[in-house]
Amino acid sequence: MTTVKQLPRRNEVPEALTWDLTKVFASDAAFETAFADVARQNQAIQKVQGTLGQSARALKNSLTQILDLFRALEKVYVYASMKNDQDTDDPKYQGYQAKVDSLAAQVSANVSFLDPEILAIDPQTLAKYLNDEPDLKVYQHFIDSITVNRAHVLEPQAEALIAAAGDAFNTASNTFGVLNNSDLKFPVVKDEQGDPVQLSNGVYSRLIESTDRSVRKAAFEGLYHTYDQFKNTLASTLSGEVKTHNYIAKAHHYQNARARAMASNHIPESVYDTLIEQVNAHLPLLHRYVALRKKILGLDELHMYDLYTPLTGEAPLSYTFEEAKATAKKALAVMGPDYLSHVSEIFENRYIDVVENQGKRSGAYSGGAYDTPPYELLNWQNNLNNLYTLVHETGHSVHSWYTRHNQPYVYGDYPIFVAEIASTTNENILTEYLLQTQSDPTVRAYILNYYLDGFKGTIFRQTQFAEFEHFIHQADGNGEPLTADMMSDYYGKLNARYYGPSIISDPQIALEWSRIPHFYMNYYVYQYATGFAAAAFLSDQIMQEKPQAREKYIDYLKSGSSHYAIDTMKAAGIDMTKPDYLIGAFQTFEQRLNELEHLLQR
Ligand SMILES: [Zn+2]
Repeated sequence: MTTVKQLPRRNEVPEALTWDLTKVFASDAAFETAFADVARQNQAIQKVQGTLGQSARALKNSLTQILDLFRALEKVYVYASMKNDQDTDDPKYQGYQAKVDSLAAQVSANVSFLDPEILAIDPQTLAKYLNDEPDLKVYQHFIDSITVNRAHVLEPQAEALIAAAGDAFNTASNTFGVLNNSDLKFPVVKDEQGDPVQLSNGVYSRLIESTDRSVRKAAFEGLYHTYDQFKNTLASTLSGEVKTHNYIAKAHHYQNARARAMASNHIPESVYDTLIEQVNAHLPLLHRYVALRKKILGLDELHMYDLYTPLTGEAPLSYTFEEAKATAKKALAVMGPDYLSHVSEIFENRYIDVVENQGKRSGAYSGGAYDTPPYELLNWQNNLNNLYTLVHETGHSVHSWYTRHNQPYVYGDYPIFVAEIASTTNENILTEYLLQTQSDPTVRAYILNYYLDGFKGTIFRQTQFAEFEHFIHQADGNGEPLTADMMSDYYGKLNARYYGPSIISDPQIALEWSRIPHFYMNYYVYQYATGFAAAAFLSDQIMQEKPQAREKYIDYLKSGSSHYAIDTMKAAGIDMTKPDYLIGAFQTFEQRLNELEHLLQR
């Protein structure tokens, strides 16, 4: 029996290690007052319905009133959710969270007339309004982003029918969620000490990294044994989801589901195709990495369950929170004094909730709202992974700071497509800094492998998912039934092609499609891969001090959603419809793979 380390209660955590939410609201009473005010604004917004097309002035006033409501809601929302996250067992803040969730749902329903009313204004009239009313100018891009897909918007009655079927359309993904999160029962396997552990998706992700081969093998086989028993049901839920995507796209006169998904984020489809082409062209690099893994682990046969165990043992570096902040500041100094001043501001003003306590939400995030500082939630442990997490979340926080201080509220947030670029760029800068300052071969090998594993999991693996996702949507569009056997057959071959000849593509892995929640998110995964590659390119430019690289990067951080994501990245120096940024990322992967091969062969 191991003794369970007792976590402190929330009120036992030293104040200096908690976030200071009085900068959002001075007290809970102030929150209550603001909440009541948002509820009143929400009531008043119903009178705005039907006014947007009346005149240029009316359009401007109505948009302002709607955006003011969103802005005020955001602030009460983040206060309640951060209070709830710091101790989810506290009934007072559970109540706050429930209150803001319900208010947010009401606001969203009450304001659902916004897009249809703007689309109902005929294009000439809209252009005239924008021309006549100088105060409307600021909303030009916001209105454009609503009207740009006008050709795909149906008659109001047809849109209402499709919207009303929304719950029914969610059945496949809800059923998958219920099955995957609660109904599936996985077997009991043995851990490193020979003690029985109940397998679950969460426990699996830990056991598959075990250095004890029999543990990770048993976890792999046990997990897939369960999925295999339900493969026909899981094929049915995934098929149902794909059919829904295809149906909604077709109803809106899109060529296919991908065209619709990408048009709604204003990303050209060529970004997706270029990613898949380039990753395929560089698969030999992944094959080399897999071969190195086999050699270092000293295995006659490398199996799929040998892909996640650390190659270089336990992390040789450890940092206290104070040391981590100091290291992060040294690494990020290359971003220039202005960027660094915001890092210091975040580190020194209690914007971070540092340590774990009873009831605190797990994981890490960067949050806050337009009218608050950026806040970070961490669950600090003294290791290298946590230094990376700090640098990652601080990348989001500084991005938020620049956006919120340089854009009006309407553009004061950034699109998902560019969000992870800011955080991953910081991680890459940390990697480069550590490689420049650490000379011990063991330490260097650990850092290089950390980078290569991240690259493998984000660029190669997510692109493999993207390729599969597009295949099943196309197959369904062509009338092919998405059965378990058909999907497993394709996935098994795809997996063998990605990982190459040094690994045994175990039959179980062909079923991996059946357990990936992201396949229910309608063309989402490719953004992980494009974001990681874009960050590799940008951090490279900054580290090499290419002219204007830093300035252009900070302009990207300042731009929020004032332009389409693809144009924002173009201004930062990357044309994501072209292969160059991906080729650059693969070059970095190759250099680091070379060095790791060299180090480990000694
Ligand atoms: Zn992130």
